[in-house]
Amino acid sequence: MEIRDEVNKRRTFAIISHPDAGKTTLTEKLLLFGNLIRSAGTVKGKKSGKFATSDWMEIEKQRGISVTSSVINFPYNDYQVNILDTPGHEDFSEDTYRTLTAVDSVVMIIDATKGIEAQTIKLFKVCKMRGIPIFTFINKLDREGREPLELLEEIEEVLDIETYPMNWPAGMGKRFLGTFDRHGEQFIQYNGNEEETYIPYGALEKPEHEDLVSQPTYQAANDEFALVEEAGDKFSLDAVLSGKQTPVFFGSALAPFGVQNFFDTFISMAPAPAPRKSTEGVISPDNPDFSGFIFKIQANMNPAHRDRVAFLRVCSGKFERGMSVKLARTGKPIKLAQSQQFVASSRDTIQEAYAGDIIGIYDPNAYQIGDTLMGGNSLFEYQELPQFPPEQFKRVTAKNVMKAKQFKKGIEQLVQEGAIQLYKHYRSETYILGAVGELQYEVFQYRMKNEYNVEVMLESIGERVPRWLKPDQVDPSMYDERNMLVRDRSDNYVVLFKNEFSLNWFKDHHPDIQLIDLFDVNQYD
Ligand code: GDP
Repeated sequence: MEIRDEVNKRRTFAIISHPDAGKTTLTEKLLLFGNLIRSAGTVKGKKSGKFATSDWMEIEKQRGISVTSSVINFPYNDYQVNILDTPGHEDFSEDTYRTLTAVDSVVMIIDATKGIEAQTIKLFKVCKMRGIPIFTFINKLDREGREPLELLEEIEEVLDIETYPMNWPAGMGKRFLGTFDRHGEQFIQYNGNEEETYIPYGALEKPEHEDLVSQPTYQAANDEFALVEEAGDKFSLDAVLSGKQTPVFFGSALAPFGVQNFFDTFISMAPAPAPRKSTEGVISPDNPDFSGFIFKIQANMNPAHRDRVAFLRVCSGKFERGMSVKLARTGKPIKLAQSQQFVASSRDTIQEAYAGDIIGIYDPNAYQIGDTLMGGNSLFEYQELPQFPPEQFKRVTAKNVMKAKQFKKGIEQLVQEGAIQLYKHYRSETYILGAVGELQYEVFQYRMKNEYNVEVMLESIGERVPRWLKPDQVDPSMYDERNMLVRDRSDNYVVLFKNEFSLNWFKDHHPDIQLIDLFDVNQYD
């Protein structure tokens, strides 16, 4: 019973967005609700431009910062909130994608002045592939932005998901008056400061609100809202929880406006940790035996010790500090002597954790991404983490040919660990690396030198669009340098298309060839 109660309180989610949409600003507001900070503006300093490779120490420091804030957890009302960070900017990497395998829901922030942007699309696709419920916050209503209807249409078309506006804005920018709150059946009035006035629909007729109701902006919004209520999709919690419909909230993280209302509604609707598939069937979060999986390994946090920290998402049972667990891959016991939960910028040693919680454990070089750890007598593994399509590809060679052996060993281990992806030319042994973000190459190069004593040379073959082929449809004569045929780690054939244009040209000319986009494959079915 105790475990079930604890699990039901957990809300574990990530905030996804394109850089500058307002993720930091919104997170700060949520931290205020959680009483973790007293005033906004203390979460992180803005990062300076791009890192030079030689500034690795800087990267470590920077990464150290990003690690400590990788997970933020705090109690809120009856809930226990866990927010996972999804690094963007130059930190964008496969880790950002993998983090989404450890959450139960996602908040997607869209800048009302810009609409949907590139990084949002990528992160959204991962959520879609995993069926994660997505709640949308359209931000910056205090500025002149795009029309609300246009923004909803864009979400539906570009992301292929139903939208249900939870509120409807009256005006924007200087004319912004507030929002109609469908859930609470009230008008939330924007007063240009931190205070919001809540006016129940029934009270809007009263004389004291005449000033508001008589404004043309209010009336236009009221008419538009009536149309939306009549013609729009119906709300369905089932559709939301299966990732088919996204509730949309309009507001401003900075003002702030609508943030409290958004958060309260989101928290009440977002799912608690759910059962997860494993090699021994579905494991319930209130199963008494502890289990969890590692979704991220952070290397070199402390240059003096070459520490590694593995991030584990608890999936069942109760985690207790110092408990003995087994590593499913080897079946061997491991003692989790040091475990930490990361709260904003201070690290606390945790005593216990339940499904939905994220814990950081010291990694004596024993763990791999995707590893399952468990207590109890059973032995099973959670499903493998999905493969994500890289975008940047580089040929890699050792500077010193005499070091071929270490070179191979280093690459194999780093690939195994999930630091970077490895491809080979379809008929030669040429190594091609694939990464989601540039930072992965910097980390790779640094670790090859420091851990394997090999200097590597990287030669970019550009941003590519990878598509997987069906084994019975591989004809090497159809490909060349432009659309390059390679093999992945499991010897599947992959075409690295030069760009979207080449891909579309190929599709038009070879409609019979099936090209598989990893984003479109639900790798969990
Ligand atoms: P992040 O890159 O997604 O973390 O974005 P930030 O939270 O750092 O915000 C980027 C910029 O947009 C900052 O200058 C913020 O002050 C600004 N910003 C964020 N939310 C709002 C908002 O609601 N209204 C306005 N006008 N600016 C905002």
